Amino acid sequence: MTIAKTIALRPHHLLCLLTYVGKGYSPAFVAGYDRIVARLSAGEEIEIISGPDDICAPIACDLTEHCHGTSVISRDARAAQDVAQLLGTEITPGARLTLTPEITAALRAAFATGEIRSACPGCEWEALCTEVAKDGFPGGRFRP
Ligand code: SF4
Repeated sequence: MTIAKTIALRPHHLLCLLTYVGKGYSPAFVAGYDRIVARLSAGEEIEIISGPDDICAPIACDLTEHCHGTSVISRDARAAQDVAQLLGTEITPGARLTLTPEITAALRAAFATGEIRSACPGCEWEALCTEVAKDGFPGGRFRP
């Protein structure tokens, strides 16, 4: 029997993926992010989880890191609500979805207008993500 592989993602990373251009908290974090983005670009399925996920993994063992904090949990809640409303699907733990080219285009269009960015205010990467989106996501490494 073949067991389908999935990438575990917390909800706000559905947004961060869209503007990921190879910048992150550490070389190990970026290397891990690159591997995940390559798998997602190849069409691998996502399973939504709560708390630290496969992108957080290189830094999540440090319990002082922000990925364990309440502000990030509320960021997840806002992202889940925005993405669920846009896609008309549940973004709750255990939900599975594949970011097809069509879905990704819809997410990027809504990201660029700010429609699905209620999770972003206060994030240290906000200006970079705004810049990437403004210019049509050039250099975005997630390319389904
Ligand atoms: S501003 Fe922060 S939360 Fe929003 S997409 Fe960028 S990195 Fe993710």
